[in-house]
Amino acid sequence: MALIVQKYGGSSVADAESIKRVAKRIVDTRRAGHDVVVAVSAMGDTTDELLDLANEVAPIPAPRELDMLLSSGERISMALLAMAIHSMGFEARSFTGSQAGMITDSQHGAARIVDVTPVRLREALDEGAIVIVAGFQGFNRDTRDITTLGRGGSDTTAVALAAALDADVCEIYSDVDGIFTADPRVIPKAQKLDHVSSEEMLELAANGAKVLYIRAVEYARRHGVLIHARSTFSSSEGTYVLGEGMKNPREAEGVVMEEPIVAGVATDFSQAKITVAGVPDVPGKAAEIFKIVAKSGANVDMIVQNVSATGRTDISFTVPKADAAAALKALAGEQTEVGFQNLIHDDQIGKLSVVGAGMRTHSGVSATLFEALSAGGINIEMISTSEIRISVVLRDTDLTEAARTVHTAYGLDGDAEATVHAGTGR
Ligand code: ASP
Ligand code: MG
Repeated sequence: MALIVQKYGGSSVADAESIKRVAKRIVDTRRAGHDVVVAVSAMGDTTDELLDLANEVAPIPAPRELDMLLSSGERISMALLAMAIHSMGFEARSFTGSQAGMITDSQHGAARIVDVTPVRLREALDEGAIVIVAGFQGFNRDTRDITTLGRGGSDTTAVALAAALDADVCEIYSDVDGIFTADPRVIPKAQKLDHVSSEEMLELAANGAKVLYIRAVEYARRHGVLIHARSTFSSSEGTYVLGEGMKNPREAEGVVMEEPIVAGVATDFSQAKITVAGVPDVPGKAAEIFKIVAKSGANVDMIVQNVSATGRTDISFTVPKADAAAALKALAGEQTEVGFQNLIHDDQIGKLSVVGAGMRTHSGVSATLFEALSAGGINIEMISTSEIRISVVLRDTDLTEAARTVHTAYGLDGDAEATVHAGTGR
């Protein structure tokens, strides 16, 4: 008998029928003899609809009230789910984030979990009940107000519950089958991974993969939580996300797993490139430029500086498309102080990343990437690396083709086309 935490995303509880299907799945787990704690997201697009409604009554909704409003989405799904389980003859109790002891800091809309005190959950479990917790929300002790954890925050709720309750596994259910070697909508030959290390998962998520939220994976890594990402719509195994020293539970059953050098290929269409041209090539200029960009709130990803022949140099960097306008405006405002010649904005770029812990110990991984791109006649504009990742910036029109070529070059193609349920991963 184990303690299993399950998280169901909005697409898994979109309507009454889906809620009943999820209730059955939970009851099956209970019938198998396990204790079950469930974190649930708001039904379907509820959170987006509530946000739209808020924006209709106020251009900038008051943050405290917005959290009050958004947290109601998960209260609806948790109560309905508990009712559905009840009607199947099982005891279930739902709890809001604050009732569940999800203590956060006071930052509305992006609160961080600082403590979890699941006293009431333990009591309910001891009394044999299935526990349902509203995802995405918490409570701040100083302000005594309801907070939300940021979009997609129910993953973090589930992982935090698993850590606090010392659960055996945290199963994250969505409408996709697990973590793939690439986005199956971009690369039809992508394969589902049996497992991936949490450091690889973090790099994949930070570079465009959307199945699991970064903060949830970070939390799991810090607290030693085993994540199993799987589909609500099938009973097959999904992908285990393994922290330091963890093993795929199926290996314990004697199944032998090979460790590929490259775990996956991530694609990202969301970045734009800004070039600050003709920067005086003297100490301190990069510091000035990136201080201005940081103050504009833009999140810088890749940076390259060209060699200078004339005492001036060009500095290019990428930021999320949504941040580019603010960064450009801030830089333009300080042009004379910094002394650069002009700004170039390019939002037709795509980023391709290859991620794999095997890069630490195997040479030639980057050569394979560059050869594949060269054979495909694809031009590289920027390059950056971490210990376990190589990223290149390309024309956005080249990205899909490049990703397919590279996926093949690393031997990641599956025999069959991946079944895509057109899922969102939520
Ligand atoms: N309902 C929230 C959202 O849509 C939280 C979640 O789904 O994880 O962002
Ligand atoms: Mg949602």
